[in-house]
Amino acid sequence: MLSLARTSRATAAASAKAQAAKAVAYRTAYTAATTYGSSRRQRQQKPESETETKYRPQQRRISAKEAGLQQQQQQQTSAARYWPKLEIPREAKRFTFIDETSKRGPTKVAWTDRFLFVEDPATENGRRALKPATLRDSCACPRCRDTSSGQKTYSSVEIPVDIGLQNVKPTKKGLEITFLRDIPRFVEDESKPHVMLLPWDSVDMSLKRKGMEDVTLPRQRSVLRRTGVVYWDRETIAQQVRRIDYAEFMKDDSEAFWDVIIDICRFGLVYLKNVPRDEDSIVRITTRIANIRETFYGRTFDVRAKPNAENVAYTSGFLGLHQDLLYLDPPPMIQVLHCMDNSCAGGESLFSDGERVGRLLWPFLTRHRMSPLAEHHVPYQYGKNGFHYFSSRRVIDGNDSGFTNVFWSPPFQGRYLSPVKDIRRWIEPAQIFSSLINDRDAIHEQKMEPGECVLFDNLRVLHGRNAFDAAGGGARWLRGAYIAAEDFLSRAAHIPKGLAEKYRGERPWAPALAQKALRETAWHEDVVRRIKEIDPALED
Ligand SMILES: [Zn+2]
Repeated sequence: MLSLARTSRATAAASAKAQAAKAVAYRTAYTAATTYGSSRRQRQQKPESETETKYRPQQRRISAKEAGLQQQQQQQTSAARYWPKLEIPREAKRFTFIDETSKRGPTKVAWTDRFLFVEDPATENGRRALKPATLRDSCACPRCRDTSSGQKTYSSVEIPVDIGLQNVKPTKKGLEITFLRDIPRFVEDESKPHVMLLPWDSVDMSLKRKGMEDVTLPRQRSVLRRTGVVYWDRETIAQQVRRIDYAEFMKDDSEAFWDVIIDICRFGLVYLKNVPRDEDSIVRITTRIANIRETFYGRTFDVRAKPNAENVAYTSGFLGLHQDLLYLDPPPMIQVLHCMDNSCAGGESLFSDGERVGRLLWPFLTRHRMSPLAEHHVPYQYGKNGFHYFSSRRVIDGNDSGFTNVFWSPPFQGRYLSPVKDIRRWIEPAQIFSSLINDRDAIHEQKMEPGECVLFDNLRVLHGRNAFDAAGGGARWLRGAYIAAEDFLSRAAHIPKGLAEKYRGERPWAPALAQKALRETAWHEDVVRRIKEIDPALED
């Protein structure tokens, strides 16, 4: 049941008093709010610097050191602005909302013209001051967002800077808010008042009762958090890789369809079986997941040996482990390959978990001998037949939050346009990377049969192929297509609840947990042993 309890803090006497002192109290509270966090020095200097801006701009030149200091102060100010330790002014209207039908604890709500305060009485410091302009900009009512497209019907710049709060009312769904000095065209018709609903989910996120991680965003980390990730070598993938029936996969709302998506997330690799030997099967499979990422090779492409091939893949030779299209930015994420014929001798497909190796090496990249893997940019280029693409990538890429990607594609490397760089320091650690991904125990080898289709994550799993005997009779013909990361992740963000978590286990996946787990494997010992060969000072 819904219950709405007025707090006793705002007694009748206090509110009468507050009424009388309203103007004064309000001004005090507001001043305190706006000046909080800015240093005394800044406040004292302000009028002076304003004058300077107007009349003597040349005197505003400041040293780099001062600029750094100013930036630091500004950062402090803006951090404080996100968590203003504001006292709720006495005249604020307030209530405590309790919904006994939900698991959410009581929420204290108070508001003045300038701020909407929400507070979790259960946590210390759990108070946030939400600003009317930001709230107004988030309104999702049918007048603010087109009901069919979901697109905004107004521009953020239409919001008056001095927009205020008129009233806040709790409902089961959220807080109903009306504004003072709202966008003029929204208040022209007085018979239709503009009311915004701030959902409880947003209140919970503001109060950190709910984190961003509880929402599945079309971001890889957000999706993997739900599905989990399994790093693999020859043995582990052989035990766990699945071959899912094509007809089941194609069925509407089938679990088999989501199993394919989940396995791409978890292993970066999955097969379909019983695929019709039809040139259009590749399109049907790929578009069942998302729209195709067309490239200059076409909407789909054929992998078979041909004379004067424009790509080394279209020959019959050995093709070492690599990733496709690293000269594109970003390279496509998902590759789909449907086997039409594979009756030649040889031509086995090869796969290796590049991310496993990248993550195993990641902790060692701070070492002088290993750092070129994370520093040296390898050029990738395609320049034939009127096309010219170029990009450069580090073998192991990361950012402040850790490992992000491996990039390895020796056959498609470009030239150093100006060969002044010294790549000697890079070669040895790159040899270690190469030896790890190409280790016999790392590679999953599979001679694809007609009717089979492999789907793999080109940004995680490296692929290659053994040479085949094109002259000795038989044929080898694969048809392929790509999906871009954003299109795949948009789909993967919709893996039904429960299904995504089914294989993962209790704990949500997190990169730090993955790194920790990898450290405890025999793979880690092998990596240490190999690094010691070029870096004997490394301790276990
Ligand atoms: Zn609205």
